[in-house]
Amino acid sequence: MLEVKDLRVSYGAIEAVKGLSFCVEQGEIVTLVGANGAGKTSILRALSGLVPASSGRILYQGRDLVGVAPHVIVGAGITHVPEGRLVFPNLTVEDNLLLGAYLRKDRAVDDDMERVFSLFPRLKERRSQEAGTLSGGEQQMLAVGRALMGRGKLMILDEPSMGLAPILVEEVFRTIVEVRKSGMTILLVEQNANMALAIADRGYVLETGRIVLSGRASELAAMDEVRAAYLGR
Ligand code: ATP
Repeated sequence: MLEVKDLRVSYGAIEAVKGLSFCVEQGEIVTLVGANGAGKTSILRALSGLVPASSGRILYQGRDLVGVAPHVIVGAGITHVPEGRLVFPNLTVEDNLLLGAYLRKDRAVDDDMERVFSLFPRLKERRSQEAGTLSGGEQQMLAVGRALMGRGKLMILDEPSMGLAPILVEEVFRTIVEVRKSGMTILLVEQNANMALAIADRGYVLETGRIVLSGRASELAAMDEVRAAYLGR
């Protein structure tokens, strides 16, 4: 579904992504794990067209997305759940969800909102509440729910566990597993390698803009160097 080849991203003289390649097959959960500054956010922003790739190719369903405008990329089925959730605090839960569907021309939006509410009953209870008054975990669910409203095919999530209490982190990861069951393919960027590798099929470990390890998530989680560097064991 997605094949990234020799991707590079630079900010002036700083090269944040130094020529990396990875792929995501349809129906998979793939995770990119790495410490602060490894380049994870820059990769996702390049996939969404929010920062330019300085070289390389981003093939999505066979089409190269380098140089394609962000709204066209959303229209092609890639939905980005950004770091820090970024819901609209003064809009209601319902209006935040509707914004996730703004590119759609079909009329099944109400049905999809019900589907999101069945996945997240807590959002349903709070549908008329301003998003800024939700807890951190609820805002994260709203950000995922909003992405689902776009009817995308590939969801890319940037550090969904950030800033959440451990119990909410578990809830958010359970949600990601549920979203995959609904047919979505998922690319998950995380510093919380422990949780990410527990739900992913495959993973890539990043260090300062390069992939240093890759493989089945269960194999990566069992490797001494991954455990020592990222799993705190
Ligand atoms: P974190 O987990 O801390 O968010 P990350 O792995 O997502 O880190 P990036 O945010 O992609 O990493 O940053 C990679 C490198 O690029 C860092 O050294 C960062 O300082 C640099 N960088 C990111 N955005 C910019 C920018 N707009 N201008 C200049 N440098 C940037």
